[in-house]
Amino acid sequence: MTKRIFRTLCLVSFTALAASLILILGVLYDYFSRIQQTQLAMQVQLAAQGVEKLGEAYFDGLDVREYRVTWLDSAGDVLYDSGTPSADLENHLARPEVRQALAEGTGQSRRMSATLTERMLYAAQKLSDGTVLRMAVAQSSIFVMLLGAGQGLAAVILLVLVLALLLSRRLSRRIVEPLGALDLDAPLQNTGCEELEPLLRRLDRQQRQLRAQAEMRRQFTANVSHELKTPLHVISGYAELIENGLARDEDIRPFAGKIRGGVQQMVKLVEDIISLSHLDEGAPATQTEQTDLHAAAAAAAEELASEAEAAGVCLELSGRSAPLSAVPALIRSIAFNLIENGIKYNHPGGHVWIRTVPEDGGAVLTVRDDGPGIPPEQQEHIFERFYRGDESRSKDIPGTGLGLSIVKHAALVLGAEIELDSAPGRGTAVTVRFPASGKTG
Ligand code: ADP
Repeated sequence: MTKRIFRTLCLVSFTALAASLILILGVLYDYFSRIQQTQLAMQVQLAAQGVEKLGEAYFDGLDVREYRVTWLDSAGDVLYDSGTPSADLENHLARPEVRQALAEGTGQSRRMSATLTERMLYAAQKLSDGTVLRMAVAQSSIFVMLLGAGQGLAAVILLVLVLALLLSRRLSRRIVEPLGALDLDAPLQNTGCEELEPLLRRLDRQQRQLRAQAEMRRQFTANVSHELKTPLHVISGYAELIENGLARDEDIRPFAGKIRGGVQQMVKLVEDIISLSHLDEGAPATQTEQTDLHAAAAAAAEELASEAEAAGVCLELSGRSAPLSAVPALIRSIAFNLIENGIKYNHPGGHVWIRTVPEDGGAVLTVRDDGPGIPPEQQEHIFERFYRGDESRSKDIPGTGLGLSIVKHAALVLGAEIELDSAPGRGTAVTVRFPASGKTG
């Protein structure tokens, strides 16, 4: 990263240097040509005064060196030229500076020379007799000027380059240094880096989430092992009695029943854990279908009919068709677990009333029983994973403590709301309100 910042800084400084050089040279070149042009105009003015006084005699023995002096009559024909014999020269009337001088008294222009290495500056002045005096001088091109300034310029460029390199290196290190010094184990303890605060806060949040997840996983594993131990002890205990011949013939069948009960409890536990882990992953939206809450509740009641009959509990389904767009497996899971609890936590001769109605484009399911009810202090815990009421454990009512947490999680995935109304001695009612459009994810 340091290298990247360094390279970027170098690139920026070099580009800035090149751009300012081009700009400065351009401005200077233009500035000097204007000075040169003004000087030329003054010189032609002086020379014009000489010609006015002396006439052609002015040109005798004139030493003009790099200047070229031309005297033209009012028709543009050359009377005198310091470079070439005047007879060889063509008419000059077409030259812009000559035309301008004839019209306005003075004229100026600049043109590239035939070889394009030089630019020629021209200044012309009209004399009182109508003739025109013109002077020309070559202006060196920008490249020649650059070559002239060569050494000084090279020294300045070198100095700026070295400075840019040194500063870029220092700057890139200073930008990266605080990043290396960050304490990533305690993101919020880092001070003096306001720009990184959102990143650090996010890091801290993620770390806390990870820690919480690890803690949940640990608790979950401990709970699963604990819940598995009871049926395993039952199974191995009764199996051992049969193996050692300690069971009488008439005991064998009830013992086998106990073993089967233990196995069933383990199967139920595994099923519930699988349901929960599916829910933890979040049901994909593609599983959403147009279903009917009433039909789902009826199917769940049907599945549990024999269990209800064995417990002497009467299942009563009422209400009407309640169409819903949701994940069918989750609706089934909610209805099944609630009805099963109504049967399990009940007494012979008890009832479970199941009712479904459409509401505000969504649907509502209510499962009510006339069982023992739930003590107020337990009500906030019953939706927790592996929570089982004291009664359920002491009375040996089979269960995993996962039923209601599956209901809660499935409702969350579907965007449904749960309402619990229960009091000891008055039974329990759980109402689940499904929203108009099934929400998943
Ligand atoms: P499980 O039924 O396997 O114990 P749940 O999560 O379904 O697990 O229920 C948690 C606890 O809530 C139960 O152990 C029980 O004490 C209490 N409970 C749930 N439903 C009822 C109900 N309809 N009547 C009385 N108590 C209930």
